[in-house]
Amino acid sequence: MIKTDILIIGAGPTGLFAVFEAGLLQLKCHLIDALPQAGGQCSEIYPKKPIYDIPGFPEVLAGDLVDNLMKQIEPFQPGFTLGERAETIEKLDDGSFVVTTNKGTKHQAPIVAIAGGLGSFEPRKPLLDNLRKYEDNGVAYMIKDPEVYRNKRVVIAGGGDSALDWSIFLADVASEVTLVHRRNEFRGALDSVEKVQQLKNEGKINLITPAEIVGLHGEDTLEAVSVRKTTNPDEVVTLEVDNFVPLFGLSPKLGPIADWGLEIEKNAIKVDTFDYQTNVPGIYAIGDVNTYPGKLKLILCGFHEATLMCQSAYQRIYPDKKYVMKYTTVGGVTGFDGSKKEAPKAVVKSIN
Ligand SMILES: Cc1cc2nc3c(=O)[nH]c(=O)nc-3n(C[C@H](O)[C@H](O)[C@H](O)COP(=O)(O)OP(=O)(O)OC[C@H]3O[C@@H](n4cnc5c(N)ncnc54)[C@H](O)[C@@H]3O)c2cc1C
Repeated sequence: MIKTDILIIGAGPTGLFAVFEAGLLQLKCHLIDALPQAGGQCSEIYPKKPIYDIPGFPEVLAGDLVDNLMKQIEPFQPGFTLGERAETIEKLDDGSFVVTTNKGTKHQAPIVAIAGGLGSFEPRKPLLDNLRKYEDNGVAYMIKDPEVYRNKRVVIAGGGDSALDWSIFLADVASEVTLVHRRNEFRGALDSVEKVQQLKNEGKINLITPAEIVGLHGEDTLEAVSVRKTTNPDEVVTLEVDNFVPLFGLSPKLGPIADWGLEIEKNAIKVDTFDYQTNVPGIYAIGDVNTYPGKLKLILCGFHEATLMCQSAYQRIYPDKKYVMKYTTVGGVTGFDGSKKEAPKAVVKSIN
């Protein structure tokens, strides 16, 4: 059981910044995210897009903002459970919550902060009868650790950046990489398309287009896939493989959190703007996942909500302690690793 002070569901910009604000109050955080990396929409949807409305940054790439947030929270040593979706919540007699993921990892905390954004990103799956049988037995919808594919025969399906980028990357890791796409044209970055073409010419990637996977075979684990050329439906070839990775994109869904007994309005969780608490005391909702009159789905709003949420969480955990808010420029920042960013001595300007 992983124990922490604030369990944050969602490691997007809101969840990450909550770690910093909690850290200033000496509260420890652990984050769960269904994706294999932190950053939420910024990392998954638009890492290379500039953002112009982060205070103090006239322009920052979404991916760089996430890198900066990760650096900012480093001193507070947050824990991460990545690539797992928070599935169920249970309230214990002592008032704390236990959140269990789809992989069975259990987390306990007196405070749960849902920073789930648009919801957990669920993979779009191909329509194949026996797909479920091979999930985690040769079929995966995201690549968490490329080393899993070392010296393996891998078939990737898809036509976007993920399919292209992973095909390129795995060309040096796997023993055989086959990329299957139902069109001849790819949707990804032009230089990635060119690189795949070059690797194909060098014999490092097998490219089959326009085609689709129509069958999966194997006793218990995946052993082969059937590929059909869409220009000639009668032409079906069977490839012996170890892994099949369909990368058809991810679509966000509020998912299991919708069944946690929280008040939901238009697919978002209703909160009190006093402290962004939900109708269940001890469970907060911050960032894109919440709703209240005047709500704006912006990163800076998520940062504000995370800040007020942490203050309220502190009072819930330590009802008898009086917290006096200090600016970081006055109190400095003391990390859990003992690192210190000291506040400079006050500069007093003489008036005569
Ligand atoms: C193309 C695009 C451009 C944008 N441009 C701007 C901009 O210029 N300025 C701006 O301020 N905003 C912009 N936004 C909006 C901004 O990205 C969001 O407001 C912001 O990402 C919200 O952050 P968040 O942390 O609340 O949620 P998200 O970034 O959505 O992160 C939520 C995380 O929670 C995870 N999650 C959800 N449910 C679960 C679960 N059950 N278990 C585990 N994990 C879960 C998800 O996997 C996800 O990683 C843009 C959005 C898009 C799509």
